[in-house]
Amino acid sequence: MNGVARMKFRRLDGVAVGVRCPYCNKPIHFVKTVKGHQMPCEMDLLQGDGVKTLVTSSGVTTRKAGPEVWGYEPHWAFCKFGQKGGAK
Ligand SMILES: [Zn+2]
Repeated sequence: MNGVARMKFRRLDGVAVGVRCPYCNKPIHFVKTVKGHQMPCEMDLLQGDGVKTLVTSSGVTTRKAGPEVWGYEPHWAFCKFGQKGGAK
């Protein structure tokens, strides 16, 4: 009956739901960075541990994010997405 009303909850603010990585088919979402880029990120919101690189929901990329930082890990840390030619 109310299926249409329920679907509204699938759309989060500024977040595309249901996007998958074209390389590994893992569910990802895009975070708009402060520079205006769309950064593919993992789905899980994580707390920094002093090692991880996290992208906050406001689009700030923080390397070695401490426990005061909550954000998403960039997906390219886990797969070939965006790493073409980038030997490091
Ligand atoms: Zn991937």
